[in-house]
Amino acid sequence: MKKHQFQQLLEYIVNSEAKQLGDFKATAQIAAELLSQQINVSSVVVSALSAETNTLEQITRLCLGVNTSSASVIRPNPGSCTNFIHQLKDERHISAEFCGDDSRLVELKPYYQALGIISVLEVAIRINGHLEGILSLERTEATEPWHDSEVQLCSQVADQLALTLATQYGYEKDERLTLFLSAAEQSDQIMMVVNLASDCIEYVNKAHADLTKVPRERVLGRQVQSLDFFRQYPTLAALVLKKARIGETSEEEVNLVRHDGSPYWMRFSVKRFISERGNHFALVNAEDCTEQHNHQSELLRLAWRCGLTGLYNRTHFSQVLEKAQKGHLVLIDLREFKRFNDTYGHANGDIMLIEVARRMRHFAEAHQISEVARIGSDEFGILFENEEDEIFIEHATERLYKQLEVPITIGIEQIEPKPALARVDLASIEQQFSLLTCADIALQYAKNKQGNAIQVFNSALLNAFKEDAQIERDLAVAIKGRQFELYYQPLKDLKKQSYIGAEALIRWHHPKKGVLYPGAFIDIAEQTGLINDIGSWVLEAACKQLNLWQRHQIDISMHVNVSARQFFSGTLFEQVWELVTRYRLKPHSLILEITETELMEDIRSATNLCHELAALGVGLAIDDFGTGYSSMRYLKQFPISKLKIDRSFISDLSVSHESREIVSAIIAMASALNISLTAEGVETKEQEHFLAEHSCHQAQGFLYSPALRVSEFGQFLEKSASIH
Ligand code: C2E
Ligand code: CA
Ligand code: CA
Repeated sequence: MKKHQFQQLLEYIVNSEAKQLGDFKATAQIAAELLSQQINVSSVVVSALSAETNTLEQITRLCLGVNTSSASVIRPNPGSCTNFIHQLKDERHISAEFCGDDSRLVELKPYYQALGIISVLEVAIRINGHLEGILSLERTEATEPWHDSEVQLCSQVADQLALTLATQYGYEKDERLTLFLSAAEQSDQIMMVVNLASDCIEYVNKAHADLTKVPRERVLGRQVQSLDFFRQYPTLAALVLKKARIGETSEEEVNLVRHDGSPYWMRFSVKRFISERGNHFALVNAEDCTEQHNHQSELLRLAWRCGLTGLYNRTHFSQVLEKAQKGHLVLIDLREFKRFNDTYGHANGDIMLIEVARRMRHFAEAHQISEVARIGSDEFGILFENEEDEIFIEHATERLYKQLEVPITIGIEQIEPKPALARVDLASIEQQFSLLTCADIALQYAKNKQGNAIQVFNSALLNAFKEDAQIERDLAVAIKGRQFELYYQPLKDLKKQSYIGAEALIRWHHPKKGVLYPGAFIDIAEQTGLINDIGSWVLEAACKQLNLWQRHQIDISMHVNVSARQFFSGTLFEQVWELVTRYRLKPHSLILEITETELMEDIRSATNLCHELAALGVGLAIDDFGTGYSSMRYLKQFPISKLKIDRSFISDLSVSHESREIVSAIIAMASALNISLTAEGVETKEQEHFLAEHSCHQAQGFLYSPALRVSEFGQFLEKSASIH
């Protein structure tokens, strides 16, 4: 009877949907329910063993009668009943009529006691010999020993539970596998598995074909050596494979070419892993990084190239120069480019620069030079890295100069680029000076040259530069140190034969070098901006002196030289106004001298300032007249009170017919415009004679006196007055 019922029970479990589906929990519940109906027990417990966490999870507990309230008491984890687990693995089941006394079950004693369990049947649920769970039948009342048929039934039920569990695991594994596979297929990242024993590609996902355009069939199952990467980077590929075999990870970025010729960048990593069965595989992860590379190289290009001309920029060129060991550096500057830019507009300025860059590049290509750069707004550099033959370089740079000089057609006009060129032999450089500094020094000289504006750097230039640098440092303290003094050179009225004016000329009592003439420092002061302070001091000192003379009834005018920077500083009018007021000067007795070229630097503001000064009554003289534009048009535009004929014409009077013509023309022009005239640098009686004959108003020069200290000047005036 029992046997038959047991058979039915088993069949019921075997055929249950829960078991077929591999639903362990539901099957365990059914089993517990049925067993509790057939066998005299107080509770049936099914637990599952988790290998990962080494814990015992209670899947179901079915209690009949008394001990339901203690259902929260749980079976001990395998860790605390290792002996029990061990025996169960080997013996499949342990049955004990009195578990409290059973030595096999001592570890479970506290649990049994807590629930008042007296008799147990513990049955192993095993798959392939592994313990996966326990089916436990518990009795709280002692009845009789466990019957063989009961033990057999429970063992069979446990087997069914094991099968259910196996199905569940199988399903889970299958489902996970399909999940992973479809995830891998969805991924934009390339995934590839290579068998390291056979070099065979066991798996590759869809992303690989998307990037490489190589169909999967041509990859899957093939040798890894057939990949483009191995063909295009054989050495690197072999190394990566070698590293994978010994368990070292590789990460690389490579530029590959597809079969259609299109290039792309791929970043990949290769890592070894060992399967459960101990086989070695390489997992390859890869992705397209073409865009990042393009972006990076674009950034590099932007960082290294001039956006307008496409030539290298200063940053790049400086780096190249730093590393350069030998050869020649040529620096090119476009003289008057700024003026051209201001006059013709930036768009035309750009056209000029682009054309100059094109010529430079053309020249460089012809000479197989790669380093051509635009290193400033109108400055270009070219490095003859391998050329050491001096004569060759000399001819080459001359050719370059000639090519750059050729007029450029801009709109309807032909514009001359006016290059200045400096050349430096890298071997001639002193350690403490950079190559560019030396080239710049030579360039300054080149710019001031007449004719071919080419200058080769040499040690004399460097010494002059060092000297200038020293002057610059000394100038900074000269004003505070009261090292300047004004000397006065008399101006003679040729008609009245008396002295009517003085030109204030600055002298510098240099603490080490002695007296310095303006030629030694005015240009440096002008370049560094120190001229503003010096000029202010000169103006103040001259006005103070003029005030003194006026208080002593000495009626002469004071000529003060004004530099361009000072003239356009924006504060000159205010300064002059303040001084004229403070020293109560007769305004017309103060005459500011400025050269024509300087005046033309900014015609509009010059015109405004000249009118303001004229309104104040202060005179304006054009210095060194004849050496600049000497244009009638400008003379009319500015309210000029005086022209000073440059001394070069005067010194040439006796020898040059042309100079005589020019001087007579200037005199005629000045008288037509009603402008007063002074001849500078008069050294001989003949010169004076010529000037007087042509009705030149005034003369100044060594014939009368050089510039004198103020006390000597007073004596000079007294002496000359007494003669007349
Ligand atoms: P400049 O304005 O043409 O001054 C006349 C220069 O010619 C003075 O040279 C003077 O000594 C010199 N000279 C006068 N008569 C003769 C002569 O008969 N023969 C020769 N060979 N030379 C003569 P200096 O004093 O060396 O001044 C040179 C230049 O420095 C001046 O040329 C002027 O442009 C500038 N300078 C002088 N003082 C000042 C100043 O206070 N401020 C500014 N900004 N420039 C000044
Ligand atoms: Ca002057
Ligand atoms: Ca002069």
